[in-house]
Amino acid sequence: MARFKGIIEVDTKRCKGCNLCVVACPLKLIELSPLVNRNGYNYAVQTDPEKCNGCSSCGIMCPDGCITVYRTKE
Ligand code: SF4
Ligand code: SF4
Repeated sequence: MARFKGIIEVDTKRCKGCNLCVVACPLKLIELSPLVNRNGYNYAVQTDPEKCNGCSSCGIMCPDGCITVYRTKE
């Protein structure tokens, strides 16, 4: 069976730090940065891109469409 590798791109300028994507990731690969964006929100970051399988849960969950998921077949 094909294995997938993924990576996400977070629009950190628009992220509101709502934490929904953090909870949505089944592999616990997203956390909120201690840094804030220009709106004062701690934005989401992917902690370990090597483990991401591109499942898209985070991208689907984000209410503001701040996450783009890229997926490749290994
Ligand atoms: S695509 Fe899936 S595995 Fe990758 S960061 Fe998002 S929720 Fe986690
Ligand atoms: S769900 Fe979207 S707005 Fe909320 S923390 Fe994640 S990227 Fe930011």
